[in-house]
Amino acid sequence: MHILVTGGSGYIGSHTCLELLQAGYQVSVVDNLCNSSQESLARVSRLTGKKISFFRVDLLDPSGLDEVFQKQTFDAVIHFAGLKAVGESVGKPLVYYQNNVTGTINLCEVMQRHGVRDIVFSSSATVYGIPESLPLTESAPTLINLITNPYGRSKLILEFVLRDWQAANPDFNVALLRYFNPVGAHGSGEIGEDPNGIPNNLLPYVSQVAVGQLPRLKIFGGDYETKDGTGVRDYIHVVDLAIGHVQALDRLRQNPGVVTYNLGTGNGYSVLEVVSAFEKASGQTIAYEIVGRRAGDIAACYADPSLAKSELGWVAERGLDEMCADGWRWQSMNPHGFPMAGK
Ligand code: NAD
Ligand code: UDP
Repeated sequence: MHILVTGGSGYIGSHTCLELLQAGYQVSVVDNLCNSSQESLARVSRLTGKKISFFRVDLLDPSGLDEVFQKQTFDAVIHFAGLKAVGESVGKPLVYYQNNVTGTINLCEVMQRHGVRDIVFSSSATVYGIPESLPLTESAPTLINLITNPYGRSKLILEFVLRDWQAANPDFNVALLRYFNPVGAHGSGEIGEDPNGIPNNLLPYVSQVAVGQLPRLKIFGGDYETKDGTGVRDYIHVVDLAIGHVQALDRLRQNPGVVTYNLGTGNGYSVLEVVSAFEKASGQTIAYEIVGRRAGDIAACYADPSLAKSELGWVAERGLDEMCADGWRWQSMNPHGFPMAGK
């Protein structure tokens, strides 16, 4: 089986390529390297002893994409390519809609032209907006006006685009995977998250404080109605997430039409709990101060992952301590990220 991975040199994509190769799949990657380095894939090849065909192509270039499909025959696509910075999306909504929505439509058109019928799509728990109740099941409402930024709205729009596309083409199969908070790194410490500039997300920020690149963490809000007043999230180890994609491919081979799964652990941890787990894993003290709430943040968000368990046989196996230990190994072995960043 030959899988095309769009956005495959990025954070989640590179970990998924590794799991696919280990599971015996042939892997090709399309990425424009706007937020990643090809070095990640060189390391995946080294770790697995297997080759990856790489195409530096932008999803906004339909003829470039078509050429890739002319050269190779794919059995399925895992689609990670997209822009993901929430704050940036507020300032550049058209760039985000163009890249994420038009890029995905271009991909679907090329797949359809070449008879590739199965796609796994990176969605996000952000499509749930402000949760009415917790834990979140897949049937919880997804109201576009409760989503606080263009990035999140692009994900929900794309869920509808893919559903409508499948409805018009009943032979096609779509897995919408709603990720909770992916963190950590491969246990080798060779690949991991390499954010541009100052990180927006908690774990990369905490690890850069631990490694001495940032002076202190600002905790956004200490007055939420949560166990200790700080925000609660469902952090999931990126390797568990990657394995979820391999299992979703198996599910698509059963011709299910459209399926939607939460990929989370079901456990909610507060910011202070994460800080303390990271201190334990790294042996470093994380300096922090509690400041005001961040605009658009919610108090708590965690998954009910039982559907993925019953239908995919998938369960997140790695806990918070392992997420922090592996994240720390990557950060301390690569304090400045990938050496040949192509960005
Ligand atoms: P990432 O930025 O590391 O990877 C995305 C990759 O897509 C990058 O390598 C980038 O160069 C590539 N890309 C972007 N636009 C492209 C285009 N037009 N053509 C070709 N390549 C393009 O991000 P990630 O964290 O690995 O996220 C992967 C996917 O998962 C994204 O769609 C993201 O929105 C989604 N997601 C991520 C998170 C998270 O917290 N990391 C949570 C939920 C959903
Ligand atoms: N957070 C924080 N300081 C930071 C980054 C994040 O206190 O520098 C908090 C944030 O308010 C939320 C949690 O950490 O409660 C997770 O935030 P992240 O941006 O990683 O994920 P998301 O908000 O998208 O779930």
